[in-house]
Amino acid sequence: MQTTRRPFVAGNWKMNGSKQLVSDVQKALDAAGIAECDCVVCPPYPFIAGFTDLANVGVQNVSALDNGAHTGEVSAQMVAELGVRYAIIGHSERRADNHESNDIVAHKVHKALQLGLTPILCVGESLQTRESGKLYEFIAEQLDAVIRLTGIEQFAKIVVAYEPIWAIGTGKTASPQQAQDVHAFIRGHLARQNAEIAESIRIIYGGSVKAANAKELFSQPDVDGGLIGGASLDPQEFIKICQAAN
Ligand code: PEP
Repeated sequence: MQTTRRPFVAGNWKMNGSKQLVSDVQKALDAAGIAECDCVVCPPYPFIAGFTDLANVGVQNVSALDNGAHTGEVSAQMVAELGVRYAIIGHSERRADNHESNDIVAHKVHKALQLGLTPILCVGESLQTRESGKLYEFIAEQLDAVIRLTGIEQFAKIVVAYEPIWAIGTGKTASPQQAQDVHAFIRGHLARQNAEIAESIRIIYGGSVKAANAKELFSQPDVDGGLIGGASLDPQEFIKICQAAN
């Protein structure tokens, strides 16, 4: 039996935005009234409180550590206490800029889950890895590092984002077939450990998604929505992408 997966679209503002953008995006979301899709905004921490419904807000990172002497860090406990529900974890920019290994990412996912957050776990390969023929091995290890720590059952509470690094912020979107191939691989990989969870987990695609290509990408059988960077900074463009998944 085929499970119906509720579409999921998240906007990753990265280190962008302003109070004005918070207000514009909130108004656009309210006016659009998107009902059949989870539509989440992940602004930088200082802008979180400007949103009226924190249940549809996510953060872009959480610490793997508990509260304590860790200057500049933000704990999953603090995020959960605010009422925020989602946390992007393991984005390729953080893996690169902050040396977040698969193991660190796994500990962050584990901590977020313990605090009741829904991790948006990012995986994805560089062009070099893809061209070396090690694409699937690479993605499998990114997933397995998390599975080893949390157990497969926890994937019922996770959203996986497949984001090929070569497609992020480059304008070079994966073709719908390229996205579908990797999404099907991810689902199949999870299914080897738990078929039910693999069938119900949302696997979203990220990498230069815009209104013009969203529908075709989201119509692939294993693509359940998107993680949107640049285009999420334009409220109307973001709404159109959410509508494409709706
Ligand atoms: C991202 O940052 O997760 C992303 C997919 O960015 P962009 O949409 O700009 O490629």
